[in-house]
Amino acid sequence: MIIYSAGQLKEELIDTGKKLVDLRLVVATWGNISCRVPKTGHFIVTPSGMPYHELKPADLVTMGRDGDIVEGTRKPSSEVLMHQEIYKARPDIHAIVHTHSNFACSFAVAGSPIPPILEEMAQLIGGPVQVARYAPPGTRELAEHAVEALDQRNAALLANHGVVAAGRTLHEALTVAVLVEKCAQVFLGAKMLGTPHILSPQETHLLRENFLKYYGQKR
Ligand SMILES: [Zn+2]
Repeated sequence: MIIYSAGQLKEELIDTGKKLVDLRLVVATWGNISCRVPKTGHFIVTPSGMPYHELKPADLVTMGRDGDIVEGTRKPSSEVLMHQEIYKARPDIHAIVHTHSNFACSFAVAGSPIPPILEEMAQLIGGPVQVARYAPPGTRELAEHAVEALDQRNAALLANHGVVAAGRTLHEALTVAVLVEKCAQVFLGAKMLGTPHILSPQETHLLRENFLKYYGQKR
């Protein structure tokens, strides 16, 4: 595994933010992104309400494990508590991308989970995308509900709000966010055509295990 410096991670985080807007996963300044800083227990998070295409490394905020600001002068994202609680609950997660993408929001509003319907979803997300119980934005309740809905998977929907996508890297978390939106769209389309075939828990488990063990290049 390559270890990136905090400076490199800040550049990648800003680049990820620009992609969120360019891929239309968020509009304006909505959504937020974070990543862990290796070996420190800290994480870097986007500031509250600043346009992604104007962000500079100095605008990012480095947070301590318990919510203290370690570095930065900006106010951190209003959802910083959700990022903090997910990192506490999931040592395997190193980056989080929160979006408000359209098709996924339809499921979040309907309170409908997205079942495992595509192999790539089983591989990267590890199962269904569940809907976290509603709580107002920025609250501890929302953070706790998000952790509960994620369980051991890499994505969840926030009721009447949006998507939480996670991964081992910023690139993987962004890919998960894109994939959740694709799966929401595909599931709606499949429902219009008939009865969608859902991958079984056994098929989903096998796809996830094989992905983690064998996919990609060894480093
Ligand atoms: Zn949001």
